[in-house]
Formats: sequence, C-alpha cells, structure tokens
Amino acid sequence: MREKFNNLFIGRQGMDEFSKFLFWAGCAHIALSCLVSSFVGFLSSLFMFLGSFMLILSFARAFSRKLQQREMENAVYLQYLDKKRRERAAAKDRRSQRKDFVFFKCPGCNQYLRVPRGKGKIHINCRCGYTMYRKT
Ligand SMILES: [Zn+2]
Repeated sequence: MREKFNNLFIGRQGMDEFSKFLFWAGCAHIALSCLVSSFVGFLSSLFMFLGSFMLILSFARAFSRKLQQREMENAVYLQYLDKKRRERAAAKDRRSQRKDFVFFKCPGCNQYLRVPRGKGKIHINCRCGYTMYRKT
C-alpha cells in the first residue's frame, strides 16, 4: 500500500512552495467563506469558489507531469516573495532612520531619496535627472 502511494508521485511535481501557498490560501478562503456565510451570501459563495479553485489548482500542480512548467511557475512565485521581502527590509531600514532623515519617492524613477531633516525647503536632484522642491 505504502509502495503504491510512493509510486504515485514518481515523475510528478509534488508539493512545492507555490502549491503549498495555493493549498493554504484555498483553505483560508473556504474558512472565511464559512465565517461570512451568515452575513453576506454572495461573498460567501465567492470565497468558496475561489478557495475550491485554489485547492484544485494546488493538487493539479502537485500531480502534474509537466515538471519544467511547474518549476518555472514556482520560480516566479519565489522571485515575487524575494522581492517583497527586500521591499519590507528596505522600508524597515527607512523607518529606523526616520529620526535624522526624510525620504522622498522620486516620481521619475520611483527610487527613494534620503535627505537630512531640518534643512528647510530645498531642491532635491535625483540621479535620473528629476528635480523636486520639498520641505524637509
Ligand atoms: Zn529619479
């Protein structure tokens, strides 16, 4: 019996990070659907539909034999997670320097510019060539 179960997964993707995420997100949506069912019927069925879809997708990915495609999807997911992690770390870093510096987001290139606090109204030049006039 155990051997049969193990043979089932030979040549298949199995549960990777993206499938695990889909599985738990699907469970969360179904749980949420049960919670809101007494308030809004439409919202409940929407959550139930989304949750079921995620669960089905999660298992479809786990049993898929198209390993290359599933690995690419997983890599995109991991890349996205990594980007979010770096953004959170940068935001935390900016918060820790908030006492001495003011941060402005450049409208030209979306980069954060760090300016010392308490310098009055100044022109801030970005590397991309954009100039702004801000109070610090
Ligand atoms: Zn810029």
